[in-house]
Amino acid sequence: MTDRRGEDIAAAVRTARRRYDSGATRPTTWRIAQLDALARLLRTNGDHIEQALWQDLRKNPTEARLTETAVVLADIAYTRRRLRRWARPRRVGLPIVLRPATARLVPEPLGVVLIIAPWNYPVQLLFAPMVGAIGAGNAVVLKPSELTPTVSAVLADLVPRYLDKDAVQVVQGGVAETTELLEQRFDHIFYTGNGRVGRVVLHAAAEHLTPVTLELGGKSPAWFDDDAHLDQVARRIAWGKFLNAGQTCVAPDYVMTTPDRVGPLTRAITRAVTDMFGADPIASPDYGRIVNAQHHARLTSYLEGADVAHGGQADPATRYLAPTLVHLPLPSPGAVGESPLLTEEIFGPILPIVPMTTPEAAIDYINAHDKPLALYVFSASRATRARFIERTSSGGVGIDVPLLQAGVEALPFGGVGASGMGSYHGRYSFETFSHRKPVVRRLHALDTLGFAMPPFTAAKRRIAARSAGVTAEPR
Ligand code: NAD
Repeated sequence: MTDRRGEDIAAAVRTARRRYDSGATRPTTWRIAQLDALARLLRTNGDHIEQALWQDLRKNPTEARLTETAVVLADIAYTRRRLRRWARPRRVGLPIVLRPATARLVPEPLGVVLIIAPWNYPVQLLFAPMVGAIGAGNAVVLKPSELTPTVSAVLADLVPRYLDKDAVQVVQGGVAETTELLEQRFDHIFYTGNGRVGRVVLHAAAEHLTPVTLELGGKSPAWFDDDAHLDQVARRIAWGKFLNAGQTCVAPDYVMTTPDRVGPLTRAITRAVTDMFGADPIASPDYGRIVNAQHHARLTSYLEGADVAHGGQADPATRYLAPTLVHLPLPSPGAVGESPLLTEEIFGPILPIVPMTTPEAAIDYINAHDKPLALYVFSASRATRARFIERTSSGGVGIDVPLLQAGVEALPFGGVGASGMGSYHGRYSFETFSHRKPVVRRLHALDTLGFAMPPFTAAKRRIAARSAGVTAEPR
């Protein structure tokens, strides 16, 4: 069984490589045709895909459209419009001493790339990287997440019906299949998921010296001290946190605020939650479910003994967990037995509100931990906003709004430090999946290159010394 599966996986990668080696994926006409085919796949099968997302995550169809298919379609449109320009060789000026010569930067595809996607946005996070990979002229092996099996099966069925069957391969499966995939040689691996598996991917890639993009997660903190916009901020925080039942890599993980603001902020977010999902969110068609029983059990275990200020209701049978607010005490550095709500990425609908005496204390707290994927500042003070931007490091920053920094095609999306390496979206995806190859041509006319060639006469030594900025005569 294992051998057979291994053979299939190796064969899929071989087929993609043969197609790449044939040169078929290089012309921009092929790339654009594939992007159009992907757009057609998404448009024609929108309902089918949305049903699968409902099945696996109980994702509302409007939310699915906004956060999954529309995101990929926007990236396709953005890339399609600019692709020919990005793919064109660019002339680069040369210093006078090297002339007459020309220099160009020629973007070239990397080859066969592997894209490993997680389950929380299983359509967007599989296809958005592929837009860049195809746009740059690569063949692609897609590995959707096994934790959203309905979506995975639907996409595996659709992809070969719309896209180049040889150049774009889909390998379904879990850890065993991904492990086998990672034994193959790729020219780039693009992984989205948690840091533990990120390390596994990086190790495997090292065997083949394969470059890697890691889109990871971690705890994304938020700071609040904007009393004048309390209700508006509360709505935005509630939206960013409880979208997809909190299973969003850039969701605010916890909110820090001064002790006197904990009460008002809690009440305002509670109002916002009720406005969005009604008094009992279990009945709301707009509120999602936890992806599986293990994640549900993990999240409810975080609530044992916690000071729950709102929500907390859970139903393991339907994997429901209410939008929940938790009060935590002032964290003390290095405290033993700290709540997992402060030590683990929550990745679910639990929002701790953590008192911090000042913005400086919050900054010190952030800097004492892994660099976050996202950082949010809700403050009317320009100085406070500037201090957070200058004194902390994170993948991106949202001021007065969550999530949006991850949805702008013109901006790179990615982490820093423990939240990831590399970035993508729009032009940055194209760059991630391309090699920029310098090509230099020296004309035969005016052959002054003899100055760099032996024998090194006194005259040549003087010229070399002058160009190196050495004033004394070399001995
Ligand atoms: P997941 O469990 O679906 O894993 C992601 C992929 O890794 C899957 O395709 C899976 O088959 C594969 N995998 C799992 N275990 C493996 C192993 N031992 N060896 C090889 N491959 C393996 O998703 P997840 O990791 O639970 O996703 C959630 C995490 O992803 C969170 O930490 C979240 O913050 C992060 N995330 C980051 C981004 C981003 O863009 N930066 C986006 C979404 C999620």
